[in-house]
Amino acid sequence: MLRISRKAESFTESVIREMNRLAVAAGAVSLAQGFPDFPCPPELKAAVTDAVNADHNQYAITFGAKPLRAAIAAKTARFHAGWVVDADTEITVVNGATEGMIAAMLGLLDPGDEVIVFEPFYENYGPDAILTGAIPRYVTLHEPDWRIDPDELRAAVTPRTRGIVVNSPHNPTGKVFTREELELVAGLCREHDLIAFTDDIYEHLVYEGEHIPLATLPGMAERTVSIDSMSKTYSVTGWRVGWVIASPELTVGVRRVHDFLTVGAAAPLQQAAVAGLTMADVYYDALLAGYRERRDVLLPALEAAGFRVHRPAGAYYAMTDIRDLTDDDDVTFARRLIADPGVATVPGSSFFSRPELGRTKLRFAFPKRLETLRAAADRLATLASTSRV
Ligand code: PLP
Repeated sequence: MLRISRKAESFTESVIREMNRLAVAAGAVSLAQGFPDFPCPPELKAAVTDAVNADHNQYAITFGAKPLRAAIAAKTARFHAGWVVDADTEITVVNGATEGMIAAMLGLLDPGDEVIVFEPFYENYGPDAILTGAIPRYVTLHEPDWRIDPDELRAAVTPRTRGIVVNSPHNPTGKVFTREELELVAGLCREHDLIAFTDDIYEHLVYEGEHIPLATLPGMAERTVSIDSMSKTYSVTGWRVGWVIASPELTVGVRRVHDFLTVGAAAPLQQAAVAGLTMADVYYDALLAGYRERRDVLLPALEAAGFRVHRPAGAYYAMTDIRDLTDDDDVTFARRLIADPGVATVPGSSFFSRPELGRTKLRFAFPKRLETLRAAADRLATLASTSRV
């Protein structure tokens, strides 16, 4: 009998995409998937046209066009003093952070290896591990501030542990890991010879605290695979251009897999990405100010509607608790909200290995125009009057 593979069978379609589809069908305001509904910077649009017209339309070097790798190395040093990256041997340009994470796991882990993943998590990491044949070991971040329990983290390390995934600023909670927490992780990595896979895609969206790349802690550059992307910082999630920074030794594994997975990211978009990476500080300041304003519109509206809100210190999501509003579980309530009052979210259970941990939660994404957020706020305002509060 024809069937899909056991690996493919072992995970389901992304719930985020399902919610988005339902939202489109119902004409709901979508605060489900994390992509901007506003345009990318005009400089980037012009740079794409220029790149196509300059005939950058054939395969680039598989691990990335040289000007882009040079720009990545320069931007890394510019924002993180002392982090020196060799553009020829330590950078691989990939099709977004999504490809970066799976290419890194496939290139650096073996079937049966264990990889620690904090939960709640960005929903790709579990399937990435499964496709690699690795076994994800989940460690819960504890509310209200999504704290790591050091004993639980230590207990998750076994003789088979080879890696740990760290995403800061964090999707879905908006947590920004503290230096102390990162030092705890770094200490375990050094002690047990682990590879850290860091997803730094929200590095420029920090409202409170500081983004500290794990690779910059003592002894970590050689064992950290730092994954980043154009998607969020430059509002171009559709470009599919990202990068992986790792030691020359680890980069060999990442590049080998990347070659066969995708050959390379789109050549004209790689050229155009340089225009983003070389933008002046004022661009990053305005980006952050814009997101802070969006956050400050959405959060009070959610609270007024009856949600308990975890105030995000970074990234562009608000995790909420629905217990004051309903006895429904997260999925039922999320479907109901799409129909009436017409706002799409993501059910909390999609961010946990054990769905029950997310049953009372919904995630709202706010990379949206203020008018979109205000429209969502108006619709949600009707909830408080019809719910139990
Ligand atoms: N990593 C995290 C934590 C994300 O939230 C997302 C998108 O929402 C991605 C990776 C996807 O990144 P990319 O578009 O670069 O593949």
